[in-house]
Amino acid sequence: LVHAVNVTKSFHHNEVLKGIDLDVEAGQVVCLLGPSGSGKTTFLRCINQLETIDGGRIWVDGDLMGYAERGDKLYRLKDKEIAAQRREIGMVFQRFNLFPHMTAIDNVIEAPVQVKGESKKVARERAQALLDRVGLGDRTAAYPAQLSGGQQQRVAIARALAMQPKLMLFDEPTSALDPELVGEVLAVMRELADDGTTMIVVTHEMSFAREVADTVVFMDAGVVVEAGPPADVIGNPQHQRTKSFLSRLR
Ligand code: ATP
Repeated sequence: LVHAVNVTKSFHHNEVLKGIDLDVEAGQVVCLLGPSGSGKTTFLRCINQLETIDGGRIWVDGDLMGYAERGDKLYRLKDKEIAAQRREIGMVFQRFNLFPHMTAIDNVIEAPVQVKGESKKVARERAQALLDRVGLGDRTAAYPAQLSGGQQQRVAIARALAMQPKLMLFDEPTSALDPELVGEVLAVMRELADDGTTMIVVTHEMSFAREVADTVVFMDAGVVVEAGPPADVIGNPQHQRTKSFLSRLR
């Protein structure tokens, strides 16, 4: 479903991604691990076009992201076309970014109604089902400020799912949460994974990566150092950089 080849990205003279390759099959969960500043967030943002890549290509479900290819030339897509591609990808951020003046259910129906033009009735029915699914079926009328961080993040997940994305990106979804609220968010993500949602997750939660990921990718300094099943990359890392990163976490 995701095929990224030799993706490069610099900010000024700082080359943050130095040729990243990644393949994600439909229904798979990939966890991106790595030290702060290794480029994990930037790579996620490149996948859904929040950043423009300098080189390489990213395909999502066969669509070349951001560009049209004619012969061996690439043409940048129009903003509207890029927006259409981005609609197919759900993203959950470290900070929940809910609209503070809207209730939970209104947050969830906002994009389907405003962007997709769905009727409020249909959007509300699905939003209710999604909020049920993340365990907040009884809090649909609550405003973000009335919800805990973990609940807000679960609303944010429901909001991303409401667009029925092909792919879900999670950028350290639990790192802004109090420790006692981390589990409820990871539990929702586990269920999504079990239901066959294709996910790329930047996380420092090793037990989640070990138990849920099909593939773990360890990044450092803008390159993929090591990738494979969690039993290999976490359980039996081959590279010194992976070993020292993991030992620092323990
Ligand atoms: P973290 O775990 O801290 O989020 P990360 O692996 O996700 O780290 P990135 O956030 O992708 O790393 O950052 C990689 C590098 O890119 C850092 O040196 C950061 O300062 C730089 N960077 C990221 N975004 C920008 C930007 N918009 N402008 C300039 N530099 C940026």
